[in-house]
Amino acid sequence: MELKDLVEGQRDALLGTLRESIRIPSVREEDSSGYPYGANIQKCLEFMLETGKRLGFTVGNLDNQVGWCEYGAGAEMVAVLGHLDVVPAGESWSGDPFSGEIRDGKVFGRGSMDDKGPTVAALYALKALKESGLPLRRRIRILMGTNEETGSADMKYYLANGGEKPVMGFTPDGEYPLINGEKGIVNVTFSHRLHQPGPVRLKKIFGGTAPNVVPAFAAAELECPGEMLGQIRAALPQKTVCVPISGGARIEAQGVGAHGSAPEQGENAIGRLLLALNDLPLEGELKETIRFLAVKIGMETGGESLGIALQDEISGRLTFNLGTIEGDETGLSCCVNYRYPVTKTLADCDPKFQAELEAGGFWVEKQTHKASLYVSPESELVTKLLRVYREETGLPAVPKSIGGGTYAKTMPNVVAFGPVFPGDEVREHKPDEFIEVDRLMKNAQIIARAMYELAI
Ligand SMILES: [Zn+2]
Repeated sequence: MELKDLVEGQRDALLGTLRESIRIPSVREEDSSGYPYGANIQKCLEFMLETGKRLGFTVGNLDNQVGWCEYGAGAEMVAVLGHLDVVPAGESWSGDPFSGEIRDGKVFGRGSMDDKGPTVAALYALKALKESGLPLRRRIRILMGTNEETGSADMKYYLANGGEKPVMGFTPDGEYPLINGEKGIVNVTFSHRLHQPGPVRLKKIFGGTAPNVVPAFAAAELECPGEMLGQIRAALPQKTVCVPISGGARIEAQGVGAHGSAPEQGENAIGRLLLALNDLPLEGELKETIRFLAVKIGMETGGESLGIALQDEISGRLTFNLGTIEGDETGLSCCVNYRYPVTKTLADCDPKFQAELEAGGFWVEKQTHKASLYVSPESELVTKLLRVYREETGLPAVPKSIGGGTYAKTMPNVVAFGPVFPGDEVREHKPDEFIEVDRLMKNAQIIARAMYELAI
């Protein structure tokens, strides 16, 4: 029988396993179970490994962080990287988020698309490949992670504790056709102490909710002589207002929210507030601090005035988002999220940024970094996967670069491939998450052929 028919033959079993896995609410919990991410994630991992064993695979489990099902022989291994943890259900579901019910040809439930559906599809695609008896020269391992949604510590653990690295692989936890470039992502929190001689003193400043979100609102409370209010009002630009408060004024700035990977689609309220404050008659350290932030960052979205406006042809320009600010009379802290082009490195931008911060009198409280990812379109991995995609769908197969980061970043030699088809709405992390049974089976077909191509 052909591979295609063997995959189709898995339909009922695949759906049964997927629905059962959705019924385990594998949301991260801090509980007393002793398992790394709580009892429910553990239960889902054990269920999947039991299923894998029943299907005749070799199974493994590295300290309940990452499990796998493997088939084949050979020194080299190719991997499919999926995850079993899900984000919390949240509100506004029209049914039970953990029932796995099938309605109108769709499987509903948290994890149906992200990422239990594709992971279970990979498991049964491997079963079909095993049944086909097609000769392979590499082993195929379906890696099942348990912590993708809250930090990917699972894969860090796997790599740090002797987990075998694939020679090639993909994660069906992104989109089609294929993502071969992901920008490097840096979060930096930096602070400045404030000695305020007056007469205008900053009492409080705040704005933003997270580093990777363009803030839509920011405000500062100033202590100042009453007669100054008129002067402050006159200096304020558009989309900022001055509200009198006891002993001074509150300045509020409006912005437009957007995702931090596309800051040019929003308007940064913190930047706007800083520009407004910079026009006020401030003095001393307060004046210097605000001036630095207003002049070096302001409402810029590309790090231009910081001298880190990198770009490349593949992924475009570095994006820069001033995500949060908070402070009081004694000091203030900011957090930025910036994303550098896929062919650049941290060394191309971080030292420059750090030097600017230092020159401005700031110190860095905290920094996190996820390196960029880029796999050549001419590589064996990308050419094989794109050929499978083109042949299975008849659609154009041009790889893309994104500003976000996928699970692919956690494992060497891996790119994101599927499960979302071009033009389909984004459903992961939303109420009524679902996957069409047809799309699920299409994924199984693509994954089966992709695994085969990479393993021969
Ligand atoms: Zn995911």
